[in-house]
Order: sequence, then structure tokens, then C-alpha cells
Amino acid sequence: MDLGLAGKIAVVTGGSSGIGLATATMLLEEGCRVAVCARDAERLAGVEADLAKRFGADNVLAAACSVLDSAAMTDFAAQVVSRFAGCDILVNNAGQGRVSTFADTGDDAWREELDLKFFSQIYPIRAFQALLEKSNAAAIVGVNSLLAYQPEPHMVCTSAARAGVQNLLKSLSVELAPDIRVNSILLGLVDSGQWQRRFESRSDQSQSRKDWLAELAASKGIPLGRLGEPEEAASAICFLVSPAAAYISGARLEVSGGVSRFV
Ligand code: NDP
Repeated sequence: MDLGLAGKIAVVTGGSSGIGLATATMLLEEGCRVAVCARDAERLAGVEADLAKRFGADNVLAAACSVLDSAAMTDFAAQVVSRFAGCDILVNNAGQGRVSTFADTGDDAWREELDLKFFSQIYPIRAFQALLEKSNAAAIVGVNSLLAYQPEPHMVCTSAARAGVQNLLKSLSVELAPDIRVNSILLGLVDSGQWQRRFESRSDQSQSRKDWLAELAASKGIPLGRLGEPEEAASAICFLVSPAAAYISGARLEVSGGVSRFV
């Protein structure tokens, strides 16, 4: 099936690792020109060099900046328009989860988490909205989590923030229509940078990665019996931003191995 992505210009936030990197790579494979951003300039430069080698330097742009810096997002959009002369696709992927209960989440942590979850959508959308409105195939995907509908007590503020983001994306799917489609993906557990960090800080350091992941999947009761791969999340994102999904807006697509319990 041809997704119709060839020739499109795509922006992926948090494109230097995990799901963002897999998405940027897949979009390039589909014939897009792709701009990515992330904060760690050194890691991003390595990713940019690798993608440029594989897909051509003219097709790749990388900007070291935070999605939480409004001015930097405006500058990132200016770089994209200067290099690629437009933007068709925005994937708001940058971020991370916070493990904490209500008892151990202080005010600063609450504000930091709400700030990250909301403004990682708001600032990039504001920065790229005018460019997207000029496209005839504009699409935004917000990378969100099942926690939006299925909160976990050990991730209380991430869950609450995710629910708010889901609500925001639904509103935007109406306010930005018909020019821009807005959809979300709801992730379960995907084996990427954040799970690697949790693996590295596991309590039993003698446990192998394979065994640790198998135990994690079993403890979460994932029906498909394993964590997802970044490429499996990327496939869903690429579909939703593609012309193949031209009549889909305001929708959510689960990529979770069937672990959601809501209907
Ligand atoms: P990774 O840690 O592998 O990648 C996160 C990426 O986001 C990195 O490129 C990181 O680069 C970038 N990033 C983080 N904060 C910022 C920021 N403020 N500005 C710009 N870039 C930023 O994680 P995943 O691939 O797993 O996560 C992708 C998204 O999916 C995240 O939003 C995450 O919360 C969400 N998610 C993931 C789940 C999973 O199981 N993997 C489950 C539910 C949601 P740098 O640090 O250099 O900025």
C-alpha cells in the first residue's frame, strides 16, 4: 500500500532516540524530507550524520533545541521553511514519563510534568501551524499514552497530564479543521530509551535485558506477551500522518499489544 508520503516535509520532535528516531527514519524511507529536534546536541549530531549518510544530506535537518522553549520552536520552524520551503507533517513525540505517586509528587514536580506534557504540544503546534495551513495534506500526530484513559497510581501526574493532552488534541482536531488533521497514538510499553534507562537502574543488576523485559511484559499482562518495538509505533504514526489517512481526524490509535482494559 502506498501511503502517499513521498515528497512530503515532516517534522519530528524528539527525533534522536526511540520512537522519534524510528519515525524519522521511516518517513525518510517513504520519501519525505525530515526535520528533527532534541536537546542533546551531540547525540542529535550523530543521528543527523547517520540519516544524512543513508538518505542524503539535503533531506535531513536537525536542530538542537527544547520543545519547551517557545522562541526556539519559532526558530526551528524558520529553519525548516528556509531549508524545505514548507511543512506538511508534525509529529509531537518529544518527552518522557515520570514515575511518582500522589504522596511523593511535590508542587514543582506537578508543574514540571504538566508543563512538559502540554507545552510539548502547544509550542510546536503554534510554531508550525501557519506552515501546515499552507499544505494540502497537513497532519499532526500527538504521541500520547494509554495512561490518558487508564491511569496508573505509580505514575499519577503523568497519567493526569496525559488525559489533559488527549482532551487538547481532540479540541484541536476541531479547531484546526479542515486545514489540518489532528490524531493521537496511545502507547502501551515500547522498548525505547526510557525503558533502557529503567533497565539500567533495575534492582537486580544480574538480570539480563531479555529476562527483565519478559518479566516486565508478564507483570503488565500484555496479551501479545512482549513490549512493542519503536518501529511498530512509527508505523502507526506514519499511517496517521499520511494521505492514506486523509479522512481520519480526532482519532486515537492504540499501539499497546492489547494491554488496554477500556472499551
Ligand atoms: P526516548 O527517551 O527514547 O526518546 C525521547 C526523545 O525525546 C529523545 O530524542 C529526547 O532527546 C527527546 N526529548 C525529550 N525531552 C525533550 C524536549 N524537552 N525537547 C526536545 N526533545 C526532547 O523515549 P521514547 O521513544 O520512548 O518516547 C517517545 C515519546 O513516547 C515520549 O513522549 C514518551 O513519553 C512517550 N511514551 C513512551 C512510552 C514507551 O513505553 N516508550 C509509553 C508512553 C509514552 P533529548 O533528551 O536529547 O532532548
